[in-house]
Amino acid sequence: MSIRAWFPTLIYHAPLRRAGGARFNAELLRECYQIRDNDPLGRRWSKLNYPGGYTSYSSLDKLHKFSSTFMDLEKRLQRHALAFARALGWDLQDRRLVLADCWLNIMPRGTAHGLHLHPLSVLSGTYHVKTPRGCAGLKFEDPRLSRFMAAPPRQADCRPEFKHHVTYLAITGRVTMFESWLRHEVATNPVESERVSISFNFAW
Ligand code: FE
Repeated sequence: MSIRAWFPTLIYHAPLRRAGGARFNAELLRECYQIRDNDPLGRRWSKLNYPGGYTSYSSLDKLHKFSSTFMDLEKRLQRHALAFARALGWDLQDRRLVLADCWLNIMPRGTAHGLHLHPLSVLSGTYHVKTPRGCAGLKFEDPRLSRFMAAPPRQADCRPEFKHHVTYLAITGRVTMFESWLRHEVATNPVESERVSISFNFAW
């Protein structure tokens, strides 16, 4: 008898860099606040669409185009994206993975980011800049959830990869990547201190 698992959904998780992460991260955080303070359009949009928080998603989503710190981030993300593409078995042919969008998110207590996916991209992810103790993680949903129909529920102690959701802890300095079609969310930030992250999309 043989039972094998097929069609895996991969999630990539790694420290952004091997050394010098703290200083780089401090600079990124400083710039994140600076960008928010200088982006009235984004703050207005966030008021309506990101209650309590700030995101540059609608106003400044090419941060890697005008800040050298974000350019440095882009260079590092590029390496991670290539490693992930290899793990996925992708044949990029004569094309390359290009960082298409890069924006930042600041979530004070009470701000949430509902279930969504990232259309028009192939790889998406988040770099965690500031993750106060107890802040919400990144929760992923089983992409087959809409097809289970009459399937029995899983046993509570089943293998973790059999569960329909998995939450990755938000850890400062780490990057999490996934294929852009994978739905995910960030639950309401329950702690006083702000959670700060940078999200991005790769196209090819
Ligand atoms: Fe997202």
